[in-house]
Amino acid sequence: MTEKKEIADQIGWNFDNSYSRLPESLFTKLNLTPVRSPKLIILNHPLAASLGLNGTALQGNDGVAELAGNQVPEGAMPLAQAYAGHQFGHFNMLGDGRALLLGEQINPLGERVDIQLKGSGRTPYSRGGDGRAALGPMLREYIISEAMHALGIATTRSLAVVSTGESIIRETEQPGAILTRVAASHLRVGTFQYVSAWGTSQDLRALADYTLERHYPEVANDENRYLSLLQEVIKRQAELIAKWQLVGFIHGVMNTDNMTLSGETIDYGPCAFMDTYNPETVFSSIDRQGRYAYANQPHIAAWNLARFAETLLPLLHDNREQAVTLAEDAISDFVKMFHHHWLAGMRAKLGIFNEEQEDESLIEELLSIMQKHRADYTNTFRALTLNKLEDTVLFSAAEFTQWYEQWQARLGRQQESQASSYQLMRSSNPAIIPRNHRVEEALEAAVEREDYRVMERLLEVLSNPYAYSTEQEIYSTLPEESTRPYRTFCGT
Ligand code: AMP
Ligand code: MG
Repeated sequence: MTEKKEIADQIGWNFDNSYSRLPESLFTKLNLTPVRSPKLIILNHPLAASLGLNGTALQGNDGVAELAGNQVPEGAMPLAQAYAGHQFGHFNMLGDGRALLLGEQINPLGERVDIQLKGSGRTPYSRGGDGRAALGPMLREYIISEAMHALGIATTRSLAVVSTGESIIRETEQPGAILTRVAASHLRVGTFQYVSAWGTSQDLRALADYTLERHYPEVANDENRYLSLLQEVIKRQAELIAKWQLVGFIHGVMNTDNMTLSGETIDYGPCAFMDTYNPETVFSSIDRQGRYAYANQPHIAAWNLARFAETLLPLLHDNREQAVTLAEDAISDFVKMFHHHWLAGMRAKLGIFNEEQEDESLIEELLSIMQKHRADYTNTFRALTLNKLEDTVLFSAAEFTQWYEQWQARLGRQQESQASSYQLMRSSNPAIIPRNHRVEEALEAAVEREDYRVMERLLEVLSNPYAYSTEQEIYSTLPEESTRPYRTFCGT
């Protein structure tokens, strides 16, 4: 047995590299760019176990060297993926500029997931960038992606963050770091846009067949399997975006290269959770037009999916006009499906089991009173769930009292007991979200003082957002007015 194989067996790597068998124009094989002195900052033990990896072995020198991109694990075949994308509406050639795909780990259940290093150095797609990432933003992605997972929202996961022992230059000098990202795949709308713009028709078909086989095998033998692919991606995105809206998650940079075909949330850059309820909320410093504002997310998703549909036109039908009709019908279904999921989710947030025509106006009415009185989104639903209507501006408003009576009457018109309503609300309204000031506090302790305990405690309470535990109470307090409005940044 070679030494490398022994290490892989100890750690539990079980790589395949199906992406490297796609047409060559889709990726570039890479050599690693070693970093000076890698140090493990955090490792996700439960995730490691579910991948069939031995956390203890992964924490050893060889494991950390692999997570830092200093050593290639046995069976891995590092590559950077090519893709394009509409960034704030403008079409660009992109690709992994600071990431490399090690390969696909086959977990003990036989499932295939990408293992990707983010911040691992320059690639042919780096354009002007340094290929690196800073520790703060990588820990931020770790915290928020794991919080999303715990909220029951499809997302890429975070296996580990290592610091590199090298400084990188942003606005200030920052410690460099590499995040190990785990994803159902890194196939994006932008991957199809890249092939559609620069590949051959065979490349497009190969990519579509690969996506079907990897994510939608149940429809891979349909008569028009490419239409089924489009419909399935639309279905998953409708469900995903509804879940974002229901917890107040704002992605911040919904470019087409940041929309997956698996239906997972990807790329935690300038994202943040909404505090005060306002549909126009934008956190990203560069989103001056509000393109990616909270209320715009479903529209942008439909816009992105239309770009995806366009790439599939040659596969949908030999007749261009008929292909366009098929694509348009599929896209118009997104709006209906999104609305269906959103309404069902909102009913659950209010403890409503059955359907009445007026439910939507009851929901809209609450949201509009919340907006008027600048109520906190998460805490309003938390208070309704706990039935503890503290002395806030919202709860003291006459309009709210009126609304509350209507809501109670509505609950009274269903068979389920009040107790089951509150049970439903508890499982639909998180007691805790990664609040911006809490995330900042954890990152500051980690990056400025190398104190990781604040982050570990935060991760602990975020890991079960529906627990309504006493430890979570303190995490639901709001920040001082002076720390708002919160701003997030790209180019991290
Ligand atoms: P994002 O906004 O993170 O989705 O990134 C958009 C594009 O810019 C992707 O192609 C990234 O790989 C690339 N990129 C972001 N940061 C860097 C960097 N520091 N060096 C090289 N490429 C980068
Ligand atoms: Mg991206």
